[in-house]
Amino acid sequence: MEPSDKQREQLSTGAIGGAPRDVSSLISIVVPAFDERENLRALYDELCEELHAFRWELVIVDDGSTDGTFDAISELARDERVRGVKLSRNFGHQPALTAGLREAGGAAVVSMDADLQHPPALIPEMIREWKRGASIVHTQRRASEQSWFKRRTSAWYYRVFSFLSGVSIGEGESDFRLLDREVVDVVVAMEEARPFVRGLVHWVGYPQAVLPYDVRPRRSGQSHYGLLRMFRLAAAGVTSFSTVPLRIGILLGAITGAGAFSELAYVVWILWRGETVPGWASVAGLLALMMGANFVLLGFIGTYIGQIFERVQGHPAYLIERRTPTHPAAESRRREG
Ligand code: UDP
Ligand code: MG
Repeated sequence: MEPSDKQREQLSTGAIGGAPRDVSSLISIVVPAFDERENLRALYDELCEELHAFRWELVIVDDGSTDGTFDAISELARDERVRGVKLSRNFGHQPALTAGLREAGGAAVVSMDADLQHPPALIPEMIREWKRGASIVHTQRRASEQSWFKRRTSAWYYRVFSFLSGVSIGEGESDFRLLDREVVDVVVAMEEARPFVRGLVHWVGYPQAVLPYDVRPRRSGQSHYGLLRMFRLAAAGVTSFSTVPLRIGILLGAITGAGAFSELAYVVWILWRGETVPGWASVAGLLALMMGANFVLLGFIGTYIGQIFERVQGHPAYLIERRTPTHPAAESRRREG
């Protein structure tokens, strides 16, 4: 996934578009935060330490927290490099991340979690890869503090997702990554009711690179991803990227149809020999099989219709309730780029 020499050359000669990738470029850090009051100050302190050599901004999206996260953001926003937006309720990690990407103004945008599981120390390395030509710098968990269960389920899910959608997400990948301005613009232009950034960033293409890192334990609070939420995210990911489940119907229909046909042939043959058909059990079994297949398919179709419905409704993926006050000086500097 390393950018090729040709791509690097194109970049340095400006043959392909995008903002300049030099030392003075603004780097945006985007952090979705749901009940993360206790973690934000520590995150900010680490960012200040690791990014002292860069011009950076921090955009924190409060995803409907109830623990006073937005107060903590407002506190940090005294530093004019820090901005916060508050969503009107909890919309979920991916919509909050999308909101942050839309807000970010940098030539490169790094997204990361608020709980310090993603080490800020890796960001300078990510920036280096970006300057060398990668438009997307993914990260990959090495030794993991995550539970065996979470690691395995996520690995299996990515495998199934790749199989179904033809878009492959690397194992151990999360939403800790750097995106070039050009890619950010493409991603946020897709007005999806349920954005799945993790899949989109692979779908778009562009030169990509991967950096390994050691995930750290969550600093404070609890993970928001229980089994049910993980399952929902997984289902939304598959159905928003793939129509293969719809086509499973053809296969199931063919199998059950063949079963039903043989059964019928058998019944006719028995009748032809002048005997009676034995019992109702086989008929009932067959009926049940067909009903089962039908229901599975109805479920799939329902899911897609649900998504079409959401698109037609045209509800946005999130709503912004308020923002931290802007520092006029910082705003004009941002405009100048
Ligand atoms: N998050 C969010 N909205 C949600 C759930 C989570 O913005 O509805 C944020 C959360 O604050 C954190 C990131 O998404 O910054 C990852 O969440 P978490 O650490 O709970 O997930 P895990 O690391 O356990 O997968
Ligand atoms: Mg976490």
